[in-house]
Amino acid sequence: MMAKFSNAPAAAGHSSNTGNEIVVFSIIRESACTECGAELCKGSLLRVEGERPLCLTCADLDHLVFLPRGDTALTRRASKHSTLRAVVVRFSRARKRYERQGILVEEAALERAEQECLADAAARERARGRAAQHRDESDTLYIKEFAKRLGELFPRCPAPERQAIADHACQKHSGRVGRSAAAQSFDPKAIELAVRAHVRHGHTNYDQLLAGGMDRMEARTSVRDAVEEVILRWRTAVDCA
Ligand SMILES: [Zn+2]
Repeated sequence: MMAKFSNAPAAAGHSSNTGNEIVVFSIIRESACTECGAELCKGSLLRVEGERPLCLTCADLDHLVFLPRGDTALTRRASKHSTLRAVVVRFSRARKRYERQGILVEEAALERAEQECLADAAARERARGRAAQHRDESDTLYIKEFAKRLGELFPRCPAPERQAIADHACQKHSGRVGRSAAAQSFDPKAIELAVRAHVRHGHTNYDQLLAGGMDRMEARTSVRDAVEEVILRWRTAVDCA
């Protein structure tokens, strides 16, 4: 039975000027994703679609990275460079209102913003922190294995994109202890899901559609053919020359 989810749905309408802004909740009690069933512990990020709580993977937002509030210049620049952006809020029991925690933006947008803010030592520190995370040895092995299996399934997927998909899968893997065991995430189905998500975000106008306020299911339908085309092409075996 899913945890009752009563603390979030009202929030999106509270703020006067949200427009098409996507709101993500940092939850203060346990919940579960209604699509994949993942248990979401306190502090997890969750999107509410209709009345249904969704984990960020099912909400197609898990390619975004979290930028905590506090650095105005960085936040402004990262927002500017990110096609898709979500605002993270958390309910304060003491003050009985939702409070902004930060934003979710594309990693490339954050990196670009950080470069622009190089004068800011804190931003440099964050960039170093993320680089170090990427260099972790077990991560390196994981990424290598994931990229290898991916290459077997999608021989025509270009190497840099293989790397990007594997990097992302690894971040998810590292961040979700107990959810996706390594063996599970090397499963062909899991790899295909990761590739599809990558294609949707990187090879179609899906993120623009979401950013423009289009319903997620409608947006998915609209890009389906474009995704299939890339998937088919990448699956084709490389000719022996
Ligand atoms: Zn889910």
